Amino acid sequence: MTEALLPLLKSTFGYSSFRGMQEQVMDRVMAKQNVLAVMPTGSGKSLCYQLPAIANKGTTIVISPLIALMHDQLRSAEAVGIRAATLTSADDNRAETIDRLKAGELDLLYAAPERASQSHFRELLEQTDISLFAIDEAHCVSEWGHDFRPDYRLLRPLLDHFGSVPRLALTATADAHTRDDILVQLGIEQDGLILAGFDRPNIRYSMSPRSGLARQVGDLVDRIPGPGIVYAQTRAATEKMASQIAATGRSARAYHAGLPPEVRQQNQHDFVASEDMVMVATIAFGMGIDKPDVRFVAHAGLPKSIEAYYQETGRAGRDGDPAEAHMFWGAEDFARARQRLGEIDETRLESERTRLAALGGLVETPGCRRAILLRHFGENPPEQCGNCDNCLNAPETRNVTELARKFLSAVYRTGQSFGVTHLEAVLTGRQDEKVRSRGHDQLSVFDIVGEEEAALIKPVSRSLLLRDALRNTDHGGLMFGPEARKILKGEQEIAIVEPPKRMSRKRRGSSA
Ligand code: ADP
Ligand code: ZN
Repeated sequence: MTEALLPLLKSTFGYSSFRGMQEQVMDRVMAKQNVLAVMPTGSGKSLCYQLPAIANKGTTIVISPLIALMHDQLRSAEAVGIRAATLTSADDNRAETIDRLKAGELDLLYAAPERASQSHFRELLEQTDISLFAIDEAHCVSEWGHDFRPDYRLLRPLLDHFGSVPRLALTATADAHTRDDILVQLGIEQDGLILAGFDRPNIRYSMSPRSGLARQVGDLVDRIPGPGIVYAQTRAATEKMASQIAATGRSARAYHAGLPPEVRQQNQHDFVASEDMVMVATIAFGMGIDKPDVRFVAHAGLPKSIEAYYQETGRAGRDGDPAEAHMFWGAEDFARARQRLGEIDETRLESERTRLAALGGLVETPGCRRAILLRHFGENPPEQCGNCDNCLNAPETRNVTELARKFLSAVYRTGQSFGVTHLEAVLTGRQDEKVRSRGHDQLSVFDIVGEEEAALIKPVSRSLLLRDALRNTDHGGLMFGPEARKILKGEQEIAIVEPPKRMSRKRRGSSA
């Protein structure tokens, strides 16, 4: 059935064949069946409704979560000659759009989910010949998704009201649980799920603990030519890092929601046009940006979830050429995320906790990163991908259960209020003023860690934080978390990736 669309694909879009799962998706759409299409970023989701929209009589209503996103999509649809319009509060041509809609002169109408509950919108649609509802970023309908938008819940009554119109839900990121929920929430049958492969083989994944972030990001940027995105955690950090990078001679811009719209637009425009620019941004940046040649995406801090990580790194290498995704994480990111769990709704707590644990597993694994990512999305990947840091350079792991227990004892005996530096001083028997004045040189845990193991203390404390065996106190000290007991009692083994051997101070000095 979709065969018949090939001439239109060529004449309108200039493409001579379908890609990936596009054909399967459109087969169902053309047969007036409902679909949930889960396809990676860059796989050509928009085409799955754009092409049927021009092939079929009537108008396709596209639900989209962001005005900026709608306007981008409108521009690219109009660029290939599709008759399209947006209906948003930001448009001053609404009367004209409504006239065009009623007259059957629109192939596509973009609208926000909150319109669905407005009775005049429903009345308007009743006077319209609707051929399809396309629901973009459909994961927003699920509380299990990483970006729940309550407005998406308003859609179902509208969809049911126009029950004979097929529904096409689209998303790039949904794990098995979220997928099931989307099907239920949007009233799509189980067999309407079409899942495309998630693997992005040209992206090389790597991760490392943060230690001197500015230098780490600087090295990465120096190493990789071509456009790149650095996701920073705060608005202030984006600006600071952008100017640090710019100072090295590489063009760099900042992007965050606090910048004036015209600056934001300019920076985005310049980035899309540039061949070597680094965009340092908050996660406000990226949705709907069509730049296929992004060569790297760096995370200067922990992303929100595996889904978010996959979506953000997915902006690299859409042209299929080699690209890198590098995450610089810190144990304190996990501590902060866990703290935020305390503020969220009871109903979401369990899913958020699972989400965070999954992220911890990805970061800490000595195994293949890609395998973890793909398994998370329900695939059954090979054990090794050959294109992630751990596959390329298998890390040695080390059983540190004994050291972890010593560390926890030190936390306990010093009263669960000191930070890692002090605990390290106690454990290695350093005779400093703070240790002596507190009488910590008299404790049984004083000087019980030898020189060789001393370098492992920080990685061990990181690992304990990540596992929720330790938590941060309000004053930056360490205290027990719920998992501490099991480890102290010897019920749980702990292995960590062997940290790179540090050069001795002397050698570092002489080589500088
Ligand atoms: P997504 O929404 O899944 O992230 P897009 O719809 O933005 O992806 O498409 C990504 C890119 O792929 C766009 O530049 C689009 O024009 C292109 N594309 C889509 N379908 C095809 C196809 N069948 N052949 C070649 N290029 C395509
Ligand atoms: Zn791998």
